[in-house]
Amino acid sequence: MRMSHLLAPTLREVPAEAEIISHQLLMRAGFIRRVSPGVYTYLPLMWRVLKKVEEIVRQEMDRAGAQELMMPILLPADLWMASGRWFVYGKEMFRLKNRHDRDELLGPTHEELITDIAKNEIRSYRQLPINLYQIQNKFRDEIRPRFGLLRGREFIMKDSYSFHSDEKSLEETYEVMCRAYTRIFERCGLSTRMVDSDVGAIGGSSAHEFMVVVETDAGENALLYCDSCQYAANVERAESRIEIVPGAFEEQEPLEKIPTPNMKTIDDLSAFLKVLPNRIVKTLIYQAEGFGEKMEEKKFVAVLIRGDVPVNEVKLKNTLACYELRLATDEEISALGTISGFVGPIGLKLRVLADESVREMKNFVLGPNEKDQHLVHANWGRDYEPKEWVDVRQSQVGEQCSRCGGELKQARGIEVGNTFKLGTKYSSKMGATFTDVDGTEKPFVMGCYGIGVSRTAQAAVEACHDKNGIVWPVPIAPYHLVVVPVNVGDPVQKEAAESLYRQAQEAGIEVILDDRDERPGVKFKDADLIGFPLRITVGKTITEGNVELKERQGGEVILVPLNEAIEKAKSMLGIR
Ligand code: ATP
Ligand code: MG
Repeated sequence: MRMSHLLAPTLREVPAEAEIISHQLLMRAGFIRRVSPGVYTYLPLMWRVLKKVEEIVRQEMDRAGAQELMMPILLPADLWMASGRWFVYGKEMFRLKNRHDRDELLGPTHEELITDIAKNEIRSYRQLPINLYQIQNKFRDEIRPRFGLLRGREFIMKDSYSFHSDEKSLEETYEVMCRAYTRIFERCGLSTRMVDSDVGAIGGSSAHEFMVVVETDAGENALLYCDSCQYAANVERAESRIEIVPGAFEEQEPLEKIPTPNMKTIDDLSAFLKVLPNRIVKTLIYQAEGFGEKMEEKKFVAVLIRGDVPVNEVKLKNTLACYELRLATDEEISALGTISGFVGPIGLKLRVLADESVREMKNFVLGPNEKDQHLVHANWGRDYEPKEWVDVRQSQVGEQCSRCGGELKQARGIEVGNTFKLGTKYSSKMGATFTDVDGTEKPFVMGCYGIGVSRTAQAAVEACHDKNGIVWPVPIAPYHLVVVPVNVGDPVQKEAAESLYRQAQEAGIEVILDDRDERPGVKFKDADLIGFPLRITVGKTITEGNVELKERQGGEVILVPLNEAIEKAKSMLGIR
């Protein structure tokens, strides 16, 4: 391809809407253009990158034994009603009505349809396991589309779904898929961390996310990982050991109620009573909403947690198996017969969950459900006995790994893929069964596995760039090589450049000839911005029969004879 005809409109200015570097670079280098929030045109360079990512994904999925198919994007609502998700998916789903006034939707994901296909087409255990995938545009009306392709409303996803006769078979495929995922991202030039992730209130048994660790705002997920062992988890899910608080081995002292006028927060109370927050038990009241089929149902619950420890609302949601959760308002707390800032479990007519962080506490401060008062030297057993012990604590950086005792470190990551063991969540709801070896009908055991193809392509830019532009990993670079004649008006340079261009094409190198009548500085800048892995410059040295070869990464210029340049380029690019 000749640069003079390539549609890669580079920009000098950074577009205001682009907050993070990878988004800015893809705009500036002429890879993408925004159509509406979260919706982009992939210009020719981007489309080449995306096709390469797709091809890597495809090869690894095929190698993992999965079969490619293609389901429609336009889906009937009734399948989603059968699974229950029509009602719970919320505003992220693009819903529409057809001319017959029937509800339809644009697929945000395809568990429902694939389960229906399995239900209709797979009869016997003999056909299992089976793993099906597609690479397709997905639609989600994200509340905050941002960061270019990282969080779009229309984006490209690879989604696969596996069907099994039992958990053991799912386990095997799950492992194969996780290994394939690691390889896919490696082949795209990305190193990823596989982290334990949240399965959601109605999720399956286990899930992982594949994260590209970044230092910037682009990393929307916070993760904790252990330096000493392999443990890594999304903070939503992370577990850790909590240190035993001071006072854990004290003798019980007599319970007292003392005045604490207006001391409603942990900080105020701690200063006023001259005790550390880790000697105070916080009682928080939450309103939980939506349980299973009962979308409208609301319940209040109280959570006991140590004063210096935050609640992890994702863990709490999972514990309660509810869809929505929020702290109760002061008015709601009053209506429950207590008072905000002075709430405690004794005599409270609510379900009370006690976080493990308070289990070993002795002689602690507790709310008495009376205004301007607190209990001091409260103790479990004697004064109150929690019935339900739970882990709803947000783990923090610096705490100990629950597996090996190592120190937990914090990082931010871009989630490029995830894997779920769904179990029979969809198959049992939708009546998707097979005949097992003993002749009985059983629901399929399922797994599902996603990769954000467009997100992965941009994550590579977030991970691989420098001050001059993108540094594409060779396997997903839009082109491998740019040939730049310094002066297109010079017939010798022009002829040499044309010849290199022809030779490169014949050698299977994907090449651009920058035939534009531009100053060399402009051409070099564009080449760096676009991020071609290799550049051959044909300049004055051509009179001695030499050209300059330069890798985008590393940046050292080497002189090579014209007739050896393409062989050298091939070996530098790893093309055989
Ligand atoms: P997130 O937590 O980032 O919203 P998700 O859990 O909703 O992701 P899945 O539904 O599991 O994601 O989708 C599978 C993959 O699709 C994700 O791992 C991610 O790489 C990609 N993906 C999800 N939402 C988007 C989006 N809005 N834009 C681009 N890629 C996305
Ligand atoms: Mg999402």
